[in-house]
Amino acid sequence: MDAGFFMDLIFPAECLACGAKLARGTVCEKCRIGIAPHRTAFCGACGAPLPGFRNICHPRTPYVMGASGDYWNETLRVLIHALKFGGIKGAAAPLADILAHYFARLPIDHRGFAVVPVPISKERMRERGFNQSALIAERFARFFGMAYDKDLLVRIAHRGPQSDIEDRDERRRNIRGCYAVRPRAESRGAGKMILIDDVTTSGATFAEAATALRSAGARKIFALAVAKAV
Ligand SMILES: [Zn+2]
Ligand SMILES: [Zn+2]
Repeated sequence: MDAGFFMDLIFPAECLACGAKLARGTVCEKCRIGIAPHRTAFCGACGAPLPGFRNICHPRTPYVMGASGDYWNETLRVLIHALKFGGIKGAAAPLADILAHYFARLPIDHRGFAVVPVPISKERMRERGFNQSALIAERFARFFGMAYDKDLLVRIAHRGPQSDIEDRDERRRNIRGCYAVRPRAESRGAGKMILIDDVTTSGATFAEAATALRSAGARKIFALAVAKAV
């Protein structure tokens, strides 16, 4: 009997989204089914769905965006808030699984990617104690057996949260120059990278982080968010 099972017997778990009693796991079946997963990737510049991966609207965008669901889905939103603002690290597992199942269904070659989380600033790290995107990214990488490169990207500037800014251009300015790449030979060789964040709103964070990854030699970039708010 493992320790987790023993703990479950003493403290029956509750669904993180609706509070229903659970025999095991973190999210109940009803909530899980209620998350309507997306079926396509999206244009990194404007968020338009890209059926067949052909970017017709903004063909020069240096990455393809993916999002497993919609931020307006209540279950997803509750899970993301629990992780990010409630400090409930256990919420990272169902979120990573949702993202992995979404990505697994995209009709692409899934091999050879290195997984990189969008980093948070030192100040935010002190405040929250962990990087929510790193928790999601690590489990996602394990799901596919991909290399996980936790420290490739670093956040070198601390600014106010993107979610506090309405204007798209202002968001872009707020995030500019925030990310840098640690020079590391093994990652440069990979060329194919998956950038992971919990939520994408205007895409400004992804655009900035992808630019930094390209300078590290990434030629093919997927920027994946669990939820998309555009
Ligand atoms: Zn539930
Ligand atoms: Zn577009």
